[in-house]
Amino acid sequence: MIIGFDDTDSKTMGMCTTYLGALMLKEIPLPPDEITPYLLRLNPNVRFKTRGNAAVSLKLAPREDYTDDLWKICCELLEEFAVFDDENTNPGIVFLSEEEAAGMHRELERFSLRAVRDFITIDETKDFLKRHKIKHRGYKNGRGLIGALAAAGFALNGLSDWTYELVAYRKPENWGRRRSLNEETVWAADRASYPFTWDTVDHQNKKIVFSPHGPDPVLFGIRGSDQKRIMDAFRIIRSEPIDRYLIYTTNQGTDMHITEARIDDAREGRSYKIRGRVTAPPRTIHGGHVIFTIEDGSGEVDCAAYEPTKNFREVVRRLAPGDTVTVYGALKNRTINLEKIQIERLIPRRVLRNPLCGCGKRMKSVGKNQGYRCKRCGTRSDLPEIVEVDPGIRVGVYETPPVARRHLAKPLIRCNEGKVKTYPSR
Ligand code: ATP
Repeated sequence: MIIGFDDTDSKTMGMCTTYLGALMLKEIPLPPDEITPYLLRLNPNVRFKTRGNAAVSLKLAPREDYTDDLWKICCELLEEFAVFDDENTNPGIVFLSEEEAAGMHRELERFSLRAVRDFITIDETKDFLKRHKIKHRGYKNGRGLIGALAAAGFALNGLSDWTYELVAYRKPENWGRRRSLNEETVWAADRASYPFTWDTVDHQNKKIVFSPHGPDPVLFGIRGSDQKRIMDAFRIIRSEPIDRYLIYTTNQGTDMHITEARIDDAREGRSYKIRGRVTAPPRTIHGGHVIFTIEDGSGEVDCAAYEPTKNFREVVRRLAPGDTVTVYGALKNRTINLEKIQIERLIPRRVLRNPLCGCGKRMKSVGKNQGYRCKRCGTRSDLPEIVEVDPGIRVGVYETPPVARRHLAKPLIRCNEGKVKTYPSR
């Protein structure tokens, strides 16, 4: 049995759909090890999202006699905690029995993947639910049904790649107050568990990044590939009292949102991997954003390393026309918002210098287009010397730092395919 739900929270009034997951986990009369909680990140470019476009599902060990009770418990919790007063909160909940879902695996798998990579309408979601007689309840305009069904689909079909996140929640009496964390213990937890955990802190930017700042109940989230190492890190951290915590299985850090495309085929609001040749030198625009242009034979597109990507911009600034790169990121306003870049080929960087005379002295320019002359011995030369200089970057894959990481972006410490050199940002 699977329960999927979404769109219960509000940017200004608090709550978090993952917290509802934690509450349900506690109220469902099953031992915790018979419940697998999933935290799914859907298309990051969806306009209606509150923050990270998360949806949640719970996969339960099948127990026939519980179905009606479970439905009641989950709907009641959702109705109690969802922020109905926010006009942008439109909750949805679906209930899927694995037996009934047997005939729709592939269709549901496609639906879930489209929710991560593309846009889905409320109408087509309702149509899907009706056609397959899936138990569901949509509140207000029912938009949350989109994420709820997608999340349920992932729990049904499993994830082809996944990571974990331990989410720790605050005591309700502390919601809205400043979060209290012993910072030194957070850095110690990172040192003890990296690279099996990541994005707890950002070393280069000297910042703790695993804790949000809003009115929601989340105290922090520890992301990683190994549940035991995540728990080790968790035990090191000292903080304000923790109300509850749970470990979600998630598609975060998997690049599930990315598909390969040619520039001409790329559409707004989707995320791509595109190989191309740099056609214009990087330029820094107002606000410190760095932009360059690539072409791939089908078209041209701008790529941006925005100011929040901090030190990542240093790599991008060193590109030159003629370099071959593969860029990863979402297409927004006809611009790829860079998450990662693979530099495949760097053309030689050449600069012109006054030539060196046979006598050992460097010649001086005589005047525009008039060549060079040695001041010491009078020797002349028409041509300058061409020197190759270090491009200041190397072939390999670079990523945005933890402070600017998108939930779905696969961190380079997970990309050890061997052949290509990677430069993980930490
Ligand atoms: P939080 O991360 O705090 O849970 P959120 O950022 O997930 O909040 P929601 O409040 O859940 O934001 O709002 C996102 C809305 O967009 C939901 O109603 C969800 O069903 C819908 N949605 C998700 N993915 C898509 C998609 N691919 N196409 C259309 N709508 C989508």
